[in-house]
Amino acid sequence: MIDSHCHFTHFDDAEIPDLIHEAHSLGVTTMLNIGVELEHMNRLMHQHQTFGLPYSIGVHPHGTLELTDSDITSMRHALQNAIAVGEIGLDSYRQKETVVQRHNLALQLDLALSLQLPVIIHSRDEETALLEHLTVYAQKCSSPPGVIHCFTGSLTFGRACLDLGFYLSFSGILTFKNAELVRDAARMCPLDRLLVETDAPYLAPVPFRGKKCRPAMVTHTAKTLAEIRNCTLSTINEVTCTNTKTLFHKL
Ligand SMILES: [Zn+2]
Repeated sequence: MIDSHCHFTHFDDAEIPDLIHEAHSLGVTTMLNIGVELEHMNRLMHQHQTFGLPYSIGVHPHGTLELTDSDITSMRHALQNAIAVGEIGLDSYRQKETVVQRHNLALQLDLALSLQLPVIIHSRDEETALLEHLTVYAQKCSSPPGVIHCFTGSLTFGRACLDLGFYLSFSGILTFKNAELVRDAARMCPLDRLLVETDAPYLAPVPFRGKKCRPAMVTHTAKTLAEIRNCTLSTINEVTCTNTKTLFHKL
């Protein structure tokens, strides 16, 4: 099993060997360490060297500063050994004004294109604007364009992203009682486009809601996915591993 999206930068380095050991003991062999801000670049590279964790680099839409040319140059350098650009995207839930977000998204999509890396997309409340960006980007991609991480969008948005070649990744939200729409999207998504993730330390699945989420908990999300799709857990594990490796071709 693979946890396709977690944040080891949000844990103490001293905790990481135990987190990795726990995940391995439950069959989670690979965990992708996802970047969200420029300040994390060195930490991601350090965790890669020390613990062997594959990583991505990106500036999350919650980052409020406009990216400069020199930021892009240092990102380009840090991306040499990375598997993807992300997480990047649009989010107007907390921040109504999205001019800077769109600017940063466009720059980072161009960066991904020039390095031929897939992107990891964060989406909240900006589906129409985001689709405009992703459509232009995906048309220029020669390999799978990326993944919509922690998918909680509308079915229409999900279908549009699938049509562009994107994968959809489902988190512990899939196990929440009131998440029927997310389960509908997980049933609708073709098997060969499904990914699973924890988004640890956030979004611990049932029965751990409210606790700090750990990468090993991806097993609960995979189990729920198997139940709602009426297939075996080994099918889910097999396809999500294959899909993750196809999408993140540098893995
Ligand atoms: Zn995340």
